[in-house]
Amino acid sequence: MCAAAAAFAIASAGCSKPARQAETATSHSDGEPQFSADSAFTYLARQVAFGPRVANSAAHEACASWIASELARHGADTVIVQRADIEGFGPAANIMGRFNAGAARRVLLLAHWDSRPWADEDPDPANHARPIDGANDGASGVAVLLEMARLMGRELPTVGVDLLFVDAEDAGSAGDDDSWALGTQYWVEHMPYGVSEPMPDYAVLLDMVGGTGATFPRELFSDVNCRPLTARIWSLARKIGLAERFPDVTGGAVNDDHIPLIRAGIPAVDIIETNNPQTGSFNPTWHTMADNIENIDPAALGDAGKLVTTLIYSEK
Ligand SMILES: [Zn+2]
Repeated sequence: MCAAAAAFAIASAGCSKPARQAETATSHSDGEPQFSADSAFTYLARQVAFGPRVANSAAHEACASWIASELARHGADTVIVQRADIEGFGPAANIMGRFNAGAARRVLLLAHWDSRPWADEDPDPANHARPIDGANDGASGVAVLLEMARLMGRELPTVGVDLLFVDAEDAGSAGDDDSWALGTQYWVEHMPYGVSEPMPDYAVLLDMVGGTGATFPRELFSDVNCRPLTARIWSLARKIGLAERFPDVTGGAVNDDHIPLIRAGIPAVDIIETNNPQTGSFNPTWHTMADNIENIDPAALGDAGKLVTTLIYSEK
């Protein structure tokens, strides 16, 4: 994703739907499966092992097949692979696994699975044309969602959950806001839902959730457009002992996959590191060759996963 400059012109209409106040969960709610940071880390390592997930590469294709097969293996009701040739990216695949698809209410959880084709923020200009591993930027969010798929395969939550793995997020250019999140832009125009099927109540995006010592303040666009939802999620974090990881303060503004969803009328929140003490924004490894597995913090992955898992299993 890219750090958003000004562009406060996001339609706020999308977030008029009030978030439910069904807050009954605690850190030890009965029957809530335990999110495993180790398992999530393994899912992350597996993605990195494919190589950079950039368009027109064997790694990209192999990773798409693997995500789809993991969703099937964990018992998704359906796995939808939405393929498209996206201008500005190439052949792309959005992958969605639906759990408890017959439930009356549904929540959408998403992450981008492509990785940036260029380390254009690397301190060494010789690396600017090289692709990054995307261990944090890409693989971390996917890892959390796949670990949740594993948990849902063991015990379904009451609510329906659509896990969406979007492609073509991270090949954008600075200064061109619309060149990012191309996979999600495509998805909102071709949502694979039946005509009579309600939209998801809300969406939670996980992006760059594995940085060393990462904290996740309330991302600004999420907060401005979807305040009831950010209030609810950050208050839940406090309730389950994650106040330090999720400081209840406004963070930076990020042009990311939640923006097309908000514009499409789905309240959406981005969980992302934006207040790194070293940079004042993203993790220092952002869009550099150092975005590799050595710089992943399983504890950050684990806390992000624990919060979203508690959120989902508290939904009635
Ligand atoms: Zn990125």
